[in-house]
Amino acid sequence: MIPYGKQDIQQSDIDAVIEVLRSDFLTQGPKVPAFEMAVAQKVGAKYALAVNSATSALHIACLALGLGKGDWLWTTPVTFVASANCGLYCGSQVDFVDIDAKTYNISVSALENKLKRSASENRLPKVLVVVHLCGQPCEMQEIKLLADKYGVKVIEDASHAIGGKYQNDYIGNCKYSDITIFSFHPVKIITTAEGGMVLTNSDELADKMNLLRSHGITRDPHLMTIAPDGPWYYQQIDLGFNYRMTELQAALGLSQLDRLDEYVALRHTIATHYDSLLSALPLTLPSQHPDSYSGLHLYVIRLNLSQISVSHREVFESLRAQDIGVNLHYIPVHVQPYYQQFGFETEDFPEAMAYYREAITLPMYPSLTTVEQEHVVTALEKALRV
Ligand SMILES: *Cc1c(COP(=O)(O)O)cnc(C)c1O
Repeated sequence: MIPYGKQDIQQSDIDAVIEVLRSDFLTQGPKVPAFEMAVAQKVGAKYALAVNSATSALHIACLALGLGKGDWLWTTPVTFVASANCGLYCGSQVDFVDIDAKTYNISVSALENKLKRSASENRLPKVLVVVHLCGQPCEMQEIKLLADKYGVKVIEDASHAIGGKYQNDYIGNCKYSDITIFSFHPVKIITTAEGGMVLTNSDELADKMNLLRSHGITRDPHLMTIAPDGPWYYQQIDLGFNYRMTELQAALGLSQLDRLDEYVALRHTIATHYDSLLSALPLTLPSQHPDSYSGLHLYVIRLNLSQISVSHREVFESLRAQDIGVNLHYIPVHVQPYYQQFGFETEDFPEAMAYYREAITLPMYPSLTTVEQEHVVTALEKALRV
């Protein structure tokens, strides 16, 4: 089976992890801060805080922004469930904004219309989570203008997008958002096994998220609310969690980060090759916004169903039967059974549903060979019966 995505682990990664295993610290040592500093420097953010997953990152990002009961979080329906669940963790309500038909990212015009309507109904969201789907950056400048106009905080879910650029700057610099989060799950662009990160330029948000990832406990006398009893002293000043990243994970992340640009460039080479191999088939290929350089986590095609005699499901099943590990990113979150209790109708977000009925994620990862890629295309031609 050729999977849709997989990690690339080299000897330098293995050596880096083994070195930590032989060291004094398996957790709370020097590797986590070194990884944080390296990522912050790479992408141009003031603060980076490593956590044990992007899901944890989204949770503490929402809490730091003050999301709570009675508030709304909005996101795109075409995302992994974690981008929406973080709102529910905080006791807030979740709503969605439909996607753009070309980029599959949150639609700026749909967002503007919904904000306008919600302002008149007095139910504006507190937090908007935008997702750089497949690594393609959202239209952040336009989104930030709208968010400022309506007083909405912005989180960039950049789980797919580390190494990508928006207007020539790395995703993660938070120029147009309050907080950006990354995922280091093995299928993502670089990995720490499980792992994630929050980035911000705000001193206050960084302090808050630093507390939340480790029980709400501080050893910093400046943050304490009463005078320390002695040098042993720590103080719990908030209700936090254990969302810390281990030293092993950070060492792996640091080692992987060295190859970030190379990985993204390889993904672009593979995508360009797909573009040319697939150009004559009855498909819609990924479109690239001219303002940006995608991290290219995923290569998603859409079937032009009116031009073929087989169904989406048949094409998908045929590819799986031919050992091509295609996938579908994503089932729109509003149609998930758990989200049905909130009263969403399937056709509330028609562009998201149109996408869902046609999309297939083809295999793409740095070590995918040209021969394997051509095998994927041959299998696809067979599945499409063209
Ligand atoms: C993978 C992913 C997440 C969750 O990442 P974890 O590190 O597995 O928690 C969140 N949002 C999006 C868009 C993702 O793709």
